[in-house]
Amino acid sequence: MARNGLGRYVVMVMAGPEAAPYQFSVSKRFCKVTAGLFAVGMVALGAAFTAFGTEYARMHERVVEIDSLRQAVAWQRTKIQSSSARVAALETQISNVLYTNDKLQQVVEARLDTIPSILPAWGRINSKFGRRLSPVTGRMRMHNGVDISAPRGEPVVASAPGKVVTSGYHGAYGRLVTIDHGNGFATYYAHLSRASARPGAGVRRGDVVGYVGSTGQSSGVHLHYEVRFNNEPVDPMDYMRNPATVFFQG
Ligand SMILES: [Zn+2]
Repeated sequence: MARNGLGRYVVMVMAGPEAAPYQFSVSKRFCKVTAGLFAVGMVALGAAFTAFGTEYARMHERVVEIDSLRQAVAWQRTKIQSSSARVAALETQISNVLYTNDKLQQVVEARLDTIPSILPAWGRINSKFGRRLSPVTGRMRMHNGVDISAPRGEPVVASAPGKVVTSGYHGAYGRLVTIDHGNGFATYYAHLSRASARPGAGVRRGDVVGYVGSTGQSSGVHLHYEVRFNNEPVDPMDYMRNPATVFFQG
């Protein structure tokens, strides 16, 4: 390329060392404009690459961020699932406890119901449970129940619900009613003037089963009342609902 005096460049192109040269001229202005355009193009391209690079880095960051968010969501979901499984297990446990509690309460209530808890005749207790001088024989003897002093013909009631086992004359007991209350409890009502309960009949607490008398080996008109647990005589006062209301004498 050579410069001539007319503000133009002459460009010579040779296809080979032997070939005839081919030449043409371009104006300086054209060269400047082309160079300018080329520079502008390069700058624009560079800017575009930079912008693309920045954008790419930003996108990559976003992708990483989204990935970690996705992982966090998955982790939270697992945690929530295991928490709700635990909550469900706790709920089951609670309902089991409540159910057991209900059952226990029913059992306790049923058991309480079998306890002979009331005084079977209205009167004073003039002889307690335990060893005493027998009013009949005058010797020390075990007294298997309590003696309730009451007028002849006073009603005698069942001290707990149950089933009548005995109702009739039984030696020293005289006219006797016995009731089986279940859970090992039984009660005896002795020396009755009349036994009104039928053997095998069901009775409720407070039902009349006979009347006060002095039949059998008796020192006078009174009710001999026994509570037995597994057939062993026990102190009836230990099972009385409110022993404070029962009067003692002598
Ligand atoms: Zn007695």
